[in-house]
Amino acid sequence: MSGFDGNIGLTPQLAVTLACLAALMGMMALCLVQGLNTRAARRLAQQEAERLRTSEARFRQLADATFEGIVIHRDGIIIDVNTALAAMLGWPQELLIGRNLLDLTHSSMHEKLLAHLAALREGHAQEFPEHASETFLRHADGSAIPVEIHARTMPFEGGNARVIAIRDVRERKAAEERIRHLAHHDTLTGLPNRNLFRDRLIQVLARAKRTGNTVAVLSLDLDRFRHVNEMGGAEAGDALLKEVAARLADTIRADDTVARLSADEFAIIQVGVSHPDGPAVLAARLNKVLAQPFHLKPGTDPLVIGASIGISLFPSDGVDAGALLRAADTARVRAKDGGRGTYRFFEAEMDRRLAERRALENDLRHALATEQFELHYQPLADCSSTRLLGFEALLRWRHPKLGMVSPAEFIPLAEECGLINPLGNWVLRSACQEAAGWPRNLSVAVNLSPVQFRQPDLAQEILAILRETGLAPERLELEITEGVLIGEPERTLATLSLLKEAGVRISLDDFGTGYSSLSYLQRFPFDKLKIDHGFIHGMESHAGSMAIVRAVIALGRSLHLTVTAEGVETEKQLALLQSLACDQAQGYLLSRPVPRDAVRQLIAEDTPLTRRSQAAA
Ligand code: C2E
Ligand code: CA
Ligand code: CA
Repeated sequence: MSGFDGNIGLTPQLAVTLACLAALMGMMALCLVQGLNTRAARRLAQQEAERLRTSEARFRQLADATFEGIVIHRDGIIIDVNTALAAMLGWPQELLIGRNLLDLTHSSMHEKLLAHLAALREGHAQEFPEHASETFLRHADGSAIPVEIHARTMPFEGGNARVIAIRDVRERKAAEERIRHLAHHDTLTGLPNRNLFRDRLIQVLARAKRTGNTVAVLSLDLDRFRHVNEMGGAEAGDALLKEVAARLADTIRADDTVARLSADEFAIIQVGVSHPDGPAVLAARLNKVLAQPFHLKPGTDPLVIGASIGISLFPSDGVDAGALLRAADTARVRAKDGGRGTYRFFEAEMDRRLAERRALENDLRHALATEQFELHYQPLADCSSTRLLGFEALLRWRHPKLGMVSPAEFIPLAEECGLINPLGNWVLRSACQEAAGWPRNLSVAVNLSPVQFRQPDLAQEILAILRETGLAPERLELEITEGVLIGEPERTLATLSLLKEAGVRISLDDFGTGYSSLSYLQRFPFDKLKIDHGFIHGMESHAGSMAIVRAVIALGRSLHLTVTAEGVETEKQLALLQSLACDQAQGYLLSRPVPRDAVRQLIAEDTPLTRRSQAAA
């Protein structure tokens, strides 16, 4: 396309021929004016006329040989055309001569052409435009042909004429269109991409600012997409995305836009919103449509996924495209947090919380290296005597600005941003090291996050820490929740079995809050059940809680598991637990978690913990 760089002139040969032609005709005119009528002059004139005819014939040959169309007209009436133009237009060459230029111009351009001809007549048409101009010719079948034209005034057959070189740019236009499409669409699904989405949103917002209409932006991502990609491979992921795109496109209205922004992230512009119910209805319909099973490949199980949707509204949640998209994304994250397969509207409060969370996540990345973490230890006591049996290590983050941040807040964050493994290893190493230095061989319990179980060498890692710190495996208890057992039970079981063989004990934490599937208790080699503090708190007032605590203690006994009651805060709770012959107790009544230095003192005193806390009160 090198010759198409905007400025198409006439081809060099053609220009030279036309220039010669002009010079010759100029000379002839001069002869006539001077009234030379001698024989010599007549002969000269005959010779010149002969040369002119040959020259014209040569011009015609050359003109016909070029790929460009050429038309010569005088005041809009066609004097001559070359074969290329006739072919381009689908007319016989002879039929074109004598016609009006309007006949070969597409009707959409007539007004412009007439104005141009008028300007020519008055002598103020631009003689040598910098760039070729674009217009549309009319094919014999009525269709429009996009062309580039370049025109000059030339002396021709005794007067001035306009010579126009015409280049057919249909192919180039089609190529440009393909490139534009590629630049603005997602190749996998054919949906608009982020660029086009942004452009459309900017246009829609500009219009909405004038009309005062409300616009909704919906941000959508698939639940469990990563799982599909991991289990079924990229092929399954691609097939799913295509099907999702088709369902989305079918669900929205023609005026709305759906785009694929990244992997499994889609966004929708909903126009003509008169009430927030509009986006809510659309979001609910999208949730429903995407919750229908996907049949991706014959012979495989249908896939059930779902989507989380966030909604932002113009103008209340933002006035520009960027702000609206961010608000919709924030709302989508909240929709995901609040249970999948739902939608949420943006709230300013949400935005503030999310910004805080991002800042905290950033701080968390530096906290390990700058030693902002420490471990506190909460005693576990024998339920009837309240004598000390061991400690649970609980992680504390001393934030330089915020002070103590609760693990309930930063552990989920560490899990999300991939910091839980180094952090969990630090906890294990510190707790084992500390316990190895205690004056008595009490046990130490360490909490493990389900995410840590995705490390294939978790068991080896823990056993290495035990060797390094010199702590006897029998003194370490690992506290896990039911979340660990969901997902890949086989691998988890192998890890736990390896640890148990080495002598490490395994506790099931927060028992009663999760799925509480009793089958786990038989399949996994647990040593201990910890009853969630919620049931202990409810014991005094709720008959239901009391019944559950009683049942769990009985269950533990029948499976030969130790049962620990968590969160014991009152004498009454302790008395009830003692009456049910619960094995162990832990809670503020006995002791709050204490810093490492206080641990040695507690161990040295070796008095029943209730008596001690009474003394302190
Ligand atoms: P958890 O494992 O259930 O730990 C017990 C939580 O209950 C601790 O909160 C403890 O301070 C609190 N607690 C103890 N006695 C009482 C009581 O009588 N009343 C009340 N209301 N609460 C009591 P903490 O230390 O804030 O830890 C919260 C959760 O954070 C823990 O729950 C655990 O799931 C997680 N966590 C703490 N440290 C670690 C860690 O090192 N690794 C992992 N993965 N998770 C940890
Ligand atoms: Ca625990
Ligand atoms: Ca617990």
